[in-house]
Amino acid sequence: MADIILTFDPSLGHQFHNFPLLSFLPCAPVRYVPAPVYNYLALPDTPADEYGRAILAPYAVRKIEAALKKRSKFNVVVAHPKHIERFITRETKIIAVNTMDPLGLGPLSLMFNNAGRERSWVTEEFSLLMRRINKRRREVGCNAKLVVGGSGEWEFEHMPQMLEIWHIDYVVQGEMDDIIHLLFEQIIEDRIDTGIFLFGYRTTTFDEHGRPRIGYVKDENGRFICRHPFSKYRLPKIDDIPTIIAPTISGQAEIMRGCGINCDFCEVTTRPLRYYPPEKVLEEVLVNKRGGINKAWFVTDNQWAYMVYDSDFWPNKEAILELYRTVIGRGGVSHANPMHATLAPVVAEPELAFGIASIVGAGPSKHIGVQIGLETGSDKLVLAHMVNKAKPLKVGVHGTWAEIVVEGQKIYNAAYWIPAYTIIIGQAGEEDEDIWDTIGLINYMASEELYFTVTPMALVNLGALRGTNTLTDVYGSLTPAQAALIYVCWRNTKRMAETLVWRLYRGNPIFRMLTTGLLTYGAAFWLDRLEKHLCKLNPGAEKAIEKAKKYVHIKRLGTNFRKLREEFKRYKELSATRLRISS
Ligand code: SF4
Repeated sequence: MADIILTFDPSLGHQFHNFPLLSFLPCAPVRYVPAPVYNYLALPDTPADEYGRAILAPYAVRKIEAALKKRSKFNVVVAHPKHIERFITRETKIIAVNTMDPLGLGPLSLMFNNAGRERSWVTEEFSLLMRRINKRRREVGCNAKLVVGGSGEWEFEHMPQMLEIWHIDYVVQGEMDDIIHLLFEQIIEDRIDTGIFLFGYRTTTFDEHGRPRIGYVKDENGRFICRHPFSKYRLPKIDDIPTIIAPTISGQAEIMRGCGINCDFCEVTTRPLRYYPPEKVLEEVLVNKRGGINKAWFVTDNQWAYMVYDSDFWPNKEAILELYRTVIGRGGVSHANPMHATLAPVVAEPELAFGIASIVGAGPSKHIGVQIGLETGSDKLVLAHMVNKAKPLKVGVHGTWAEIVVEGQKIYNAAYWIPAYTIIIGQAGEEDEDIWDTIGLINYMASEELYFTVTPMALVNLGALRGTNTLTDVYGSLTPAQAALIYVCWRNTKRMAETLVWRLYRGNPIFRMLTTGLLTYGAAFWLDRLEKHLCKLNPGAEKAIEKAKKYVHIKRLGTNFRKLREEFKRYKELSATRLRISS
């Protein structure tokens, strides 16, 4: 019998036939993706053992499990969400649920559900889990506290009424690896130490110069909990972060926290940079390997910042390649790839992409997937909001942003990497010309038959949600150019679905045919519906979409990247020689 039950949003347990294009499916509206189709495409689900415990669990859940088992006196179990009822008894003290997007307010969900006008599958599944937990609590007379945490906790700040509806006692925010045992002990004993924890939550806003400002909002109702800014427990150092003790879904293993690139719309950048040494990463990879997972998926917001100590963000190639060598060589896994990275470092140092490809044995039938925030095709917007994304290169000096992106994309593909890009629509200062820069860039890369996907995300004013049930209407308020950009992104996804599903799908031939058919048909159906919908909503969209279908253009400075890399090399050698002489 467990005192503390850890579980997770069911959508985090789906493996979507291990096909990367499908991982966005939980964002899709329930109304447009019928349950049988969703349930099939979401397969397989993470497995459970005979008792109903999750054999594989999301990384964040495994971290909390490790911390509690190491530092608290309580019995802890990681329950598969499908079997949660089996674990809830009168004696249960805490039921803690990890979630990424409980209310469908994540940037991608907002695009799919048109800013909350539709209900996304992710919300549907989370809501059902909440109802099942509450029903079971009532049935057995369980007074356990229901606690929610994870990267989607912020959504409750915008819709706090959902805490009442779902009978959630606490929402926990932020990194807690080092103090979660204290928090859970104190919740159980009903004496939360307000010197360590704050009833409220941390907020990040950015000033007109893009500098982040951290603030704290107090919660008089005592439902939101975060680390007190003046707590004697500062954010955990790497040594304070426990190693997972049971395997994670997809072989997730953390390599670093923070990013350092300072994009002015991104909260990640406010987290201090901390790096796991390869030995610590290896420990987690070995835990996964013992659990039958033969790959490592590195948890990071920007892999190329791993062990970077250079203000120009020159990637630390030796450290990164050493990490991969350690994991593949001594971890004995057959594959490794990062969750997130950027583009410019591989333009400056292509050996990063090729070196990793060689270590993991990438090839025509073994690609390396990576998610990258491309954000825009516009130099102006890159310089205004995310200038460091282009480092160690400089936009306008070493090339246009589009030239840098195309060069990076070609290098990635040549080394068997397939980037899954996201772009942002609605950045401050965005004009039609910026949108056309992005349309031209996507079409140009597609015309070169490069392998990549682009998922558009709209910046939505979440403040509009307070006190209402819906946000602004994303699709209704698009300009014709923005509508055309969304169309172009999904047209490229259709191209990729047609090109890659059959080639990349692994496993049963019948499932391969079924999935290929569903995805190619689904992509064509979706694109056709989307075009009609955009044209109906916005009279100018039809003309813009027609123009976008043929708009293949990028701005250029005419950079010769091969020469540029030779110059960089000479400069680095000269600097190293000077350093040697002076020391
Ligand atoms: S590179 Fe990505 S993770 Fe880093 S600050 Fe920019 S958007 Fe955030």
